[in-house]
Amino acid sequence: MSITHIFAGNTLDRGDHARRDEIALKRMIRRDNTKLLPFHNLKPLVKRSPDPELAWINHEFLDDLPIEAGGPKFLGFDKDQNPYFAVDVSTVKDPSRIAVIADNAAFEDGRSAAIDIPPEQSGILAQARSNLNWHLQHRFCSFCGSESQSHRGGLMRECPTCKTQHFPRTDPVVIMLVYRGNRCVMGQTLGRQSSGFYSCLAGFMDHGESIEEGVRREVMEEAGLPIGKVTYHSSQPWPFPSSLMIGCHAEALSENIEADPGEMADVRWFTKDEIKLALENNLEGINIPGPIAIAHHLIKAWAKDTAKI
Ligand SMILES: [Zn+2]
Repeated sequence: MSITHIFAGNTLDRGDHARRDEIALKRMIRRDNTKLLPFHNLKPLVKRSPDPELAWINHEFLDDLPIEAGGPKFLGFDKDQNPYFAVDVSTVKDPSRIAVIADNAAFEDGRSAAIDIPPEQSGILAQARSNLNWHLQHRFCSFCGSESQSHRGGLMRECPTCKTQHFPRTDPVVIMLVYRGNRCVMGQTLGRQSSGFYSCLAGFMDHGESIEEGVRREVMEEAGLPIGKVTYHSSQPWPFPSSLMIGCHAEALSENIEADPGEMADVRWFTKDEIKLALENNLEGINIPGPIAIAHHLIKAWAKDTAKI
């Protein structure tokens, strides 16, 4: 069974061909059928009425708004060829001004908004937020230090001095539910003891490492457990700021956990019955991730025996 996670399922055609004509792309921003999604400090504009959805504005409002250097970033076309852009309006001192022009919308935290808006819009939110953040964090050429410029509607920056081209980064993270027989492993990171929050083990992949190797290394580092079989389950874009969560199930070859005290407050085994209760919020003192997170689906697939492992 394939799962479309929150932050996946973006239906926009990212318009690679259109990105190559930068003059036409600039003109496109001013079309009447163009939709712009404003972000203020990386929070998207969201409408709550009549139903929760991203709040798009028209180009007419652009003239009144101070926009971050580089202008709106192209997201793509919908099935009717309407162009979509994201625009960073963080320099607007009073963001409620923009909320008023978009029918009492508000700038909201991306995680909370993503739970409520239609799933395909959460994919657009992920694309837009990660791209705007990349431009904020990569203004200068990492080779020579000159200020670089946005091209291809935001999918590339080029340095005017040394001509180095820079492309948006995505950081792969392996996240895995470790299991052995009828039990699985979940961990609690330092600082979360009071919440009772346990989740799958996870960590950033290293250079020159396969997904399977990343899973085995992370589980050994965090829990001291050797891993045999690794089975891919699904993946999820996670735009905080630009990760790709690669979800797996991993079979432990031993039961002796040795948690890394520098990173983990606790790592322990849970039985399948305990996990089923936790999924229904009925395991006393234990909280596990909700459906917004891929961890929830990795746990659920194992507990309900729907994972192909
Ligand atoms: Zn340079």
